[in-house]
Amino acid sequence: MTDLKEFELIYKEDRREIKDKQKIETKLREIVGINNVSSKEIDLLAYTKDTSLIGFNWTLQGKIAGLPDFITWPETVEQISEILKLSNREKIPVIPYGEGSGVVGGAIPVYGGIIIDMKKFNTILEINDKDLTVTVESGTNGMNLERYLNAQGYTHGHIPQSLYYSSVGGWIAHRSAGQFSTKYGKIEDMVMGMEVILPQGDILKFKTIARASTGPQFEKLFIGGGGTLGIITKATLRIWPYPETRTLISYAFPTFEDSLEATRQILRQQIYPAVIRIYDAVETIRHFGHIEKAKNKVMVVFVCEGIKKLVDLEEVITKETCEKNNGINCGEEPVEHWFETRFNVTETSSTPTFGIVIDTIEIGFLWDKAAEMYHFVLEVVKKVKGLLFITAHISHFYPNGVGFYFTFAGIPPREKTDLEFYQEVWNTVIKTVEDCGGSFGHHHGVGINRSKWMSVEWGKAFDSLKKIKQLLDPNNILNPGKIFDGPWEEGGEN
Ligand SMILES: Cc1cc2nc3c(=O)[nH]c(=O)nc-3n(C[C@H](O)[C@H](O)[C@H](O)COP(=O)(O)OP(=O)(O)OC[C@H]3O[C@@H](n4cnc5c(N)ncnc54)[C@H](O)[C@@H]3O)c2cc1C
Repeated sequence: MTDLKEFELIYKEDRREIKDKQKIETKLREIVGINNVSSKEIDLLAYTKDTSLIGFNWTLQGKIAGLPDFITWPETVEQISEILKLSNREKIPVIPYGEGSGVVGGAIPVYGGIIIDMKKFNTILEINDKDLTVTVESGTNGMNLERYLNAQGYTHGHIPQSLYYSSVGGWIAHRSAGQFSTKYGKIEDMVMGMEVILPQGDILKFKTIARASTGPQFEKLFIGGGGTLGIITKATLRIWPYPETRTLISYAFPTFEDSLEATRQILRQQIYPAVIRIYDAVETIRHFGHIEKAKNKVMVVFVCEGIKKLVDLEEVITKETCEKNNGINCGEEPVEHWFETRFNVTETSSTPTFGIVIDTIEIGFLWDKAAEMYHFVLEVVKKVKGLLFITAHISHFYPNGVGFYFTFAGIPPREKTDLEFYQEVWNTVIKTVEDCGGSFGHHHGVGINRSKWMSVEWGKAFDSLKKIKQLLDPNNILNPGKIFDGPWEEGGEN
């Protein structure tokens, strides 16, 4: 085993050193038991990063993003509460950790401290058939949950591409969105009740209820809270009967604008295919180069699912609307291909081996400016020195707007580090989106990458949010370096 000191630490400026590590380790052992705490280098190394793609470049270069002091695997809410109380007394950072599939640095221990890995909170507690709910511990793996539900005749409908390696708690903390989101909604539409532990150790239980008008929805603070305001330990989520039938539809359009117009009109008629994905011309070549009718076109795939009578109607309206907007029917094959490859990430994860910095950035826009925005983001990012390409697809749709997903890659120019180049592209996209009135983050959360821009996104409301954070977490121990402060120097001021 290499000595951890030999690795270059990327985020080192804000590290808080713990004075008496032995004392803290002894206390942690008393709280969670000797087998549920570790300070071994091999364990610390495993929790130095999340799945931010730039992390692959750093790993290849022998660099680590952040270094924790202890890893803990608590088994009860009381243990988590005790860890938080200890951390408050000693002013030690605590970082909740789901499965580390986040891509914006949310789980990176930039200040060091104690990782609370939620993997032992993995019980599926109850399905209620009449209410159509499942109650689940927050460390439960997404694919385990979906498989369990499928076997009982249900679906959760939340299928992020990271389904196999993300947890319920991570979904809620990052306000995530799945591939079938146009019909089933995003995670915030699914959470009906929750148990949360506040930074000072108080345990809150939010009622499971279809709706209430009993004041503001306090629990919403934790959906998208990025693990900075509380640790989610349990959630009750919506589920649906497993769809009776599924129809696969695809159309190739002459222009990006035609494809946007067709999908906008479909939603305006209150038709919600579970999946809609528009691939720009370059991504169409990348994913559907083998489809003759899609040559030099923009591919759109649809999946309609549910009870047969409704799906038949959805199919008719979807096809009619595509044809009215110059779409060419490409049949089921492109959608079958999408189903076969939808969890495949080898392309992006192997790119860093060639010295390339690659990443994805998702943003939100209303329909009115969607097409204009797409072209504008491409235009400004292409001016960044070292950029090789930027492309986009759209995978989340609303009657009022869309979620774009940009992929960029480049080789940093000689005078820039990987991180500087990466930040330049991120900041260029964020600034462009903010200037044009969009939202700089659609579903990957804030993490490190977006923290410095929070006051630009939120305006004055961010001052109030910061006061709430100060009230709940006066010692700033819960996931510091995310949302409310952060190690990135460029960008808007907090
Ligand atoms: C290949 C790939 C594909 C992806 N596809 C999608 C996609 O389709 N849709 C999408 O939305 N995202 C996607 N993501 C991003 C990522 O999977 C999601 O953000 C996911 O929600 C993170 O879950 P996790 O359990 O891995 O969380 P982690 O990465 O462990 O943590 C994420 C954040 O949540 C906090 N956190 C974790 N658990 C808790 C808890 N119990 N209580 C409080 N805070 C907590 C952490 O501190 C951190 O800030 C993808 C990522 C990859 C690598």
